[in-house]
Amino acid sequence: MFTRNEIIEILKDDSKNDWLFSLADKVRKENVGDDIHLRGLIEFSNICKCECKYCGLRAPDKNIQRYRILEDEIIQIAKNAVDMGYKTIVLQSGEDAYYTKERMVDIIKGIKEFDVALTLSIGERTYEEYKAFKDAGADRYLIRIETTDRELYKQMHPNMDFDNRIKCLKDIKSLGYEVGTGCLVGLPNQTLESLADDILFFKEIGADMVGIGPFIPHPDTPLKDADTGSFTLALKVMALVRIMLPDINIPATTAMETLNPNGRIIALQSGANVVMPNVTSLQYREKYEIYPNKICTHESPDKCRGCIGAKIKSIGRSISTTYGNSHNKN
Ligand code: SAH
Repeated sequence: MFTRNEIIEILKDDSKNDWLFSLADKVRKENVGDDIHLRGLIEFSNICKCECKYCGLRAPDKNIQRYRILEDEIIQIAKNAVDMGYKTIVLQSGEDAYYTKERMVDIIKGIKEFDVALTLSIGERTYEEYKAFKDAGADRYLIRIETTDRELYKQMHPNMDFDNRIKCLKDIKSLGYEVGTGCLVGLPNQTLESLADDILFFKEIGADMVGIGPFIPHPDTPLKDADTGSFTLALKVMALVRIMLPDINIPATTAMETLNPNGRIIALQSGANVVMPNVTSLQYREKYEIYPNKICTHESPDKCRGCIGAKIKSIGRSISTTYGNSHNKN
């Protein structure tokens, strides 16, 4: 375990990166083993009311072709993924008001008919909605804090409230969901100190899953000319998360692979134990463009699974056949 100062020193100094990545790999092996959990990701709507400065789905973006997958088709896509062997389905979307509490409950119940764990990643909702989703069978909820730097949070998220995001995380935790969160690395004006605070925050709230991704500028957003986040820095933050929260689930994120053709495998060897292959039908994939050059936007769901499966075997790891619940006891 490291103190805040030690974390900052490690983030600043690139001369000990190899040591950091092997330590994270060792901690991963000792605490969560060699199994890799695959989560089938369904990106079911790119319609969003938010205006997050970095995100390609932001409401003011007029260039994007919007889509919304209806209830029955979402359930069918989930069924196909379960038939392919996925033990967890992740439902992700923009903040789209079409998906009322009632509609979400129907989708959740439909998917929970299959033998599968279910994660929701649909943004900020009320306690009552989170409770209804949990009662309907949802197991996990993923909502990144994005950054714990209040000032930066405000700059990046017009019309949003940092305190409400924290409240959402607390509500989810108190309702008994497995809590997934995480942050972006490389946002304009983000400091190493604030990244250290992000890591300590994940520990403080007792996160079960933490996803770390480099910021990738999208050409249709106000941050189009900003620098791309550093792959290495994102990897270092991820490795530190593994060391500080030894028994949680950590995905090798798609954004990592977008910046480095071998990014997910490198991440899996530096602390990560989860991959979230896209199982959305082909015609929707390229439209869910939160950032440009997202990988696998032209691949079919079965091809994605085969491709990552082969890579996993090539590094001597195995694909888990369990739900891959969190080992975190906090
Ligand atoms: N509406 C949901 C899902 C958001 S999309 C929610 O609010 O939770 C999932 C994640 O994509 C976001 O949490 C954000 O961290 C990431 N993301 C968005 N834009 C990005 C960009 N330009 N580069 C890298 N990651 C990005």
